[in-house]
Amino acid sequence: MSVTVIGAGLAGSEAAYFLATHGVQVVLADMKPRLTPAHKSEALCELVCSNSLKSDDAYGNACGLLKEEMRRLSSLTMEAAEHSRVPAGGALAVDREKFSAYVTEKLRAHPDIQIVSREIEELPEKGIVATGPLTAGGLFEAIKKRFGMLHFYDASAPVVSAESVDLSHTFTQDRYGRGTGGYLNCPLTREEYEGFVRALVSAERATLHEFEKGEIFEGCMPVEVMAARGTDTLRFGTFKPVGLRDGGVRPYAVLQLRKENAEGKSYGLVGCQTNLKFGEQRRVFGMIPALAHAEFERYGVMHRNTYLEAPSCLNADFSVKGSPDLFFAGQIAGVEGYVESAASGLLTGYHVLNRLRGKPSVIPPDTTVIGALSNYISAPNANFQPMNANYGVLAGGFEDVRDKKERRKLLAERSFAEIERFKAKVLG
Ligand SMILES: Cc1cc2nc3c(=O)[nH]c(=O)nc-3n(C[C@H](O)[C@H](O)[C@H](O)COP(=O)(O)OP(=O)(O)OC[C@H]3O[C@@H](n4cnc5c(N)ncnc54)[C@H](O)[C@@H]3O)c2cc1C
Repeated sequence: MSVTVIGAGLAGSEAAYFLATHGVQVVLADMKPRLTPAHKSEALCELVCSNSLKSDDAYGNACGLLKEEMRRLSSLTMEAAEHSRVPAGGALAVDREKFSAYVTEKLRAHPDIQIVSREIEELPEKGIVATGPLTAGGLFEAIKKRFGMLHFYDASAPVVSAESVDLSHTFTQDRYGRGTGGYLNCPLTREEYEGFVRALVSAERATLHEFEKGEIFEGCMPVEVMAARGTDTLRFGTFKPVGLRDGGVRPYAVLQLRKENAEGKSYGLVGCQTNLKFGEQRRVFGMIPALAHAEFERYGVMHRNTYLEAPSCLNADFSVKGSPDLFFAGQIAGVEGYVESAASGLLTGYHVLNRLRGKPSVIPPDTTVIGALSNYISAPNANFQPMNANYGVLAGGFEDVRDKKERRKLLAERSFAEIERFKAKVLG
């Protein structure tokens, strides 16, 4: 049994590794060392922006639940995340270099995986396409020609060097004291906050004309666009001071900095994805006292994010309608986010294994987050947009249980039982 996987990002790495560990010969093709506009490293399975894989709470958060489902399905990225974890309160954040290095090493060391460095120009008739939101060159054109493609704009946040942060204007604390002190907080007085918001809203943006098309994904809205909605918008969002105390006092507003690597040499500005011109990023974020002399290791950028209109061309097992041996996985298939992309790659691995063994597809039920996402991408939807893990897509249940915490615990336990059933059906 053999299969070709195109793209060794979050989704492709998961699919390739799962298949190889189940006796399939895998050719894994990636254009690296040639890089897309967002990828920076030659390592595979790169996290292109934030180093956070979001909440790790399986019993209280849908993305946390998805991660636990993935662990139970033998996810390589969850294994890598555990290996490269950095403190981040209730979130699972990783040292991005260690994370990619771990996955790259696992893929390279596997005797049944052949890694090929090549930009694929054509759409194959079978295999898995997992080339992500920045699918390059001829392959992008071929996919567009066959399926048409949709896109939205997405922004990333700046990263500053730790040694350039003025610690006399910070305090270390996780929100509500949950976690192990992974966040550095930059408190702002009312005057500082309002001055910052005014500067943010009026600062010069790059490629302004493209934003005005209004195709920005709500979850990745640039901080300057959020700020323009009202002076207090950030203070009730990314900059909210709840659960934080500076010397016993709740600050007016807070920018949180999160460690980018285990050594804590760099910090990402949480929730500050932006499309300001680079000089403006230095000037405006420099108005936050702790960042007055910050050195920017990476600036925020806005980029195009492409995906298929999945309901019209994909089945719930991520195969192409009318081409049962061709699969799409990851962001291009209509899921959104690192964890969701990896999850769809892992699940596609299960589906391809099943197909290679001549068995009918088994779709996990929508009482699991991974099954709910499969359902979402394939259900008719006139306004289709990529989706991240959330309780809204998950099937309901336990409505009679009034306590939200208890209800979510029951939803999680129901999901775990279904995941075991799904595994047993596919792997026997
Ligand atoms: C700039 C940016 C920032 C993002 N920030 C976040 C974030 O902070 N948090 C979050 O949860 N999600 C974020 N996302 C969304 C999404 O989670 C990531 O894009 C995620 O990496 C998608 O995983 P993937 O496996 O689908 O694609 P990728 O991880 O992008 O992997 C695709 C792979 O395919 C390769 N490739 C592309 N074209 C070809 C070709 N023609 N031939 C061969 N190889 C090819 C690439 O080199 C790459 O290795 C961001 C996306 C972008 C673009």
